[in-house]
Amino acid sequence: MLLISIIKTALELLVKLLELSNEGLHRLLSDAGFTEQRAKCQQRLADWLQGVARVLTQDGRQMTGSYAEGWANSMVQVNGRTAADSDIDWTVLAPGQEFHLRGGCERKGSCKDATPLQVKEGHAQVAVGAGSQPAVTATACGVRPAQDTCHAIECCSSFFKNRIRKLLPYNFDKVHLVRATRPSSTNELRVSFSFQEKDIMRNLSTDQGQLFTLIKFIFKRHLPLTLDTPGLKTYHAKTLLFFMLEKNDTHPSIEAWQPHNLIALLKESLDMMLSFIDSSSSPNECMPHFFMPDAPLYFKNAGIGGDFDNTKARVRDRLCELRSDISGVVEQLRGLVRPLQSEKFYFHPFTLLPLTAPPAVTEIRKGMYSPEMYYKFADVYSVVHQCVSELQSESSDRDTLMRQLSILQQLQWCKCATLCMTAMAHLKFGESEEAERLAMELQRHHVVSGLKPQDIQADKYDEPAKLPEDSDWAWRFCLPCDSPPRFPFLPEFTQTLFTARLSQPLSSHLYVNFRCLSWSLQAELLRNRAPAYAFDHWIKELLGDPDLEELLTLAHYSDCRWHVRLSLQQMEMIEKERRVAMETQDEENIGWVRQKWWRVSNRSGSGSDSGAHRSSEDEEEDEERRLWARARLGLVAMETAAEQRDSWTHTKVSWMRLQ
Ligand SMILES: [Zn+2]
Ligand SMILES: [Zn+2]
Repeated sequence: MLLISIIKTALELLVKLLELSNEGLHRLLSDAGFTEQRAKCQQRLADWLQGVARVLTQDGRQMTGSYAEGWANSMVQVNGRTAADSDIDWTVLAPGQEFHLRGGCERKGSCKDATPLQVKEGHAQVAVGAGSQPAVTATACGVRPAQDTCHAIECCSSFFKNRIRKLLPYNFDKVHLVRATRPSSTNELRVSFSFQEKDIMRNLSTDQGQLFTLIKFIFKRHLPLTLDTPGLKTYHAKTLLFFMLEKNDTHPSIEAWQPHNLIALLKESLDMMLSFIDSSSSPNECMPHFFMPDAPLYFKNAGIGGDFDNTKARVRDRLCELRSDISGVVEQLRGLVRPLQSEKFYFHPFTLLPLTAPPAVTEIRKGMYSPEMYYKFADVYSVVHQCVSELQSESSDRDTLMRQLSILQQLQWCKCATLCMTAMAHLKFGESEEAERLAMELQRHHVVSGLKPQDIQADKYDEPAKLPEDSDWAWRFCLPCDSPPRFPFLPEFTQTLFTARLSQPLSSHLYVNFRCLSWSLQAELLRNRAPAYAFDHWIKELLGDPDLEELLTLAHYSDCRWHVRLSLQQMEMIEKERRVAMETQDEENIGWVRQKWWRVSNRSGSGSDSGAHRSSEDEEEDEERRLWARARLGLVAMETAAEQRDSWTHTKVSWMRLQ
């Protein structure tokens, strides 16, 4: 026995050692989707989103940053989702403006009479300061990640071409200026290379991208969160990677960039970072800029309150410790990174578009090539916005609404949305039989959950992705909105599924999940026909990518213990992983489900679990369901709502005691 247990322990140790090895780390990241191939898919999705956003905003915006670059926008998996602490970055160049930089501008042709600006340590010296906030941030809200919009001014030329050429032999992009200064300067604008950076990041091989992911993880999460040592950020990780690419040659086939070298490369990077830190005596500076060797990069929040936190020394010490033992990093990463359960990308582009009021649309334009190929998607977004507004308007006219809806009729890829809105229009104008007919059509209609990599791939390299037009993937929308939704003609619970998120002015929107609406409309309108509820089908559909509304819907209509428990668990997981930026209304909804779970799990017997036969108990529950929906809509008196909340608090306490 003793021998066996010794052997077992030794084997476990060996397995652990092997897991810690290079191949293990490489495999861990590859299994979670951190590969060149999936990064390419992510980049194509970003390009697609940019194409549609540009049609809507007409400001020529360009996506930059990790979402567009395809690497480490989320540390968990590469499946189209954005991490709670990541964002989508846009750069908008001011129209008709151009600056000239000394050292960049060639002072020929149209630049003959230009007065180039002097550039000091990467900052162009200007007469009037523009502040040091480069971007306007629309905070994360509901399913929308934060979006940064950086207004910039284009320069007439590139800058430090010899440095760019080290990593990009064929890049002719110009640089631009953004509102940012050195820690104690004013009246200057920072030279930005974000377009060149995007180009470099988009050409990384799997091993190069994985090295970046590791460095970013250490700088952005491990140091500040686990080791309580803030100071470094994503831009430092990117810069360090660029220096590593320069040192080891970018070509992915050379010996350095192989899976078995990943840990050696990481250690080499940390050594390089330490020597950068030591090469400057200033407490604010941590490394040189990759493209502008005379410009230092500063620690995060440098200059604010002096060197109060002793940032430089602390970061240096932590990096030294990591350099000699990276097992802590690997362990943390192992807890975070998760293997893909599916190859799919969960991409809901109509929830991610900038929330500018879409233009009025009377037809869906056609087009084969960029940018015309994006017109139809922007047009559909506009029509959906129009119809949802029209449905809420008290003065809306039936024929106008039906005409707008008919614009969408032929499109398969947004059919669920069209059918739902048409059913709603019939309900609005008192045509319940027509609405029922559409509910039955919805019952037969299937939407797709997630896009397969082959759906995203283009025919030719570098051609924009064409999303499938014969399957329905466009059923989640965030629509610009500034007042609470009003759909009094809908069943009460169905009304609660329109989630208005109005607390953040720049991110105010109405969230509409048409798949979820479709389930609720079927459940309500086909109540007396079997089978009105298709819970097993709902569950199968939602499991890869559920949202709070869908889980609430399942818990609302089903009295099966298992269904309610599943809803609660999934909602708590969304909350824990911060997949949705939650507000009070979401907490309350989770509270409702928790209360229901407590109720169904304490109910004697489980005879009604199947939902097939209805008893007086079921009718009682129908009544309660109705009350809940009314309370959520604010239709019942405040006291009742307060009572319900008290009973919920009570329930929660007893539930916690049960645990
Ligand atoms: Zn950002
Ligand atoms: Zn010029």
